[in-house]
Amino acid sequence: PSAMRELLIEVPNVRWTDIGGLDHLKLKLRQAVEWPLKHSESFQRLGVKAPAGVLLYGPPGCSKTMIAKALATESGLNFLSIKGPELFSKFVGESERAVRDLFTKARQVAPSIIFFDEMDAIGGERGVGEASVHERVLAQLLTELDGVVPLKSVTILAATNRPDRMDRALLRPGRLDRLIYVPLPDFETRLQIIEIILSKMSISDDVNSHYVATKTEGFSGAELQALCHEAALQALENDLDCPAVRMEHFHIVLKDFRARTPQSLLKIY
Ligand code: ATP
Repeated sequence: PSAMRELLIEVPNVRWTDIGGLDHLKLKLRQAVEWPLKHSESFQRLGVKAPAGVLLYGPPGCSKTMIAKALATESGLNFLSIKGPELFSKFVGESERAVRDLFTKARQVAPSIIFFDEMDAIGGERGVGEASVHERVLAQLLTELDGVVPLKSVTILAATNRPDRMDRALLRPGRLDRLIYVPLPDFETRLQIIEIILSKMSISDDVNSHYVATKTEGFSGAELQALCHEAALQALENDLDCPAVRMEHFHIVLKDFRARTPQSLLKIY
């Protein structure tokens, strides 16, 4: 049995249109990942290489995972995803094998994307004495990353909330050498996110998404999602037969819903 029980290969179903705002960022990523795959001759002719790997960084709940999935969906790539901490196994040797298996699998199902979530967990801890499991996983990962470059058909994407904790070796040229910041949504982006969320709910005509966007400065996309969910619960709490969520329900939840991203975290970006 592999150390990675969770190695799941899928073609996700997230479209660019499911992601509110971030138009510039979407374009940059398509240029970096989609174009070199779709127009490889043009890139070769001009002597430009695709970035080896892309690191998405920024506060939690701001669509890093959605973006990775949308890239896979829209380019028809198989999607392999793994959380940094899942790469560590208590059993000596298992972790390195898990990393090798992951890349082998990705090559088998290429063109593909490997998405590493919580990437800061790798190499974030320094062992004393003999090489810690972190160091061994990191070393194996670096070897694999260096091997991926000539392959092209395996794209590496990673995400972290703590770029400051990333091992520098991972960020060197030829590895995760394209860094893209995914910020908290601004007003326009929040409005778009809210409208995407509400479009999937039953909403009364009096719901003013513009107002909700005004009142949610500092909220992440995930928090906007949670807020709308709470509003629906509020509606049901009063009346299980309630046909649609109304503005009054949003007013109630807006009163005690607070953005949770700490200022200290935002300062490191
Ligand atoms: P984490 O760092 O916690 O892993 P993340 O940045 O990867 O978070 P996602 O998992 O992609 O964030 O987003 C969480 C949820 O928030 C999504 O499932 C979606 O419901 C909502 N969301 C966040 N940003 C957006 C957005 N721009 N448009 C639409 N929905 C969004």
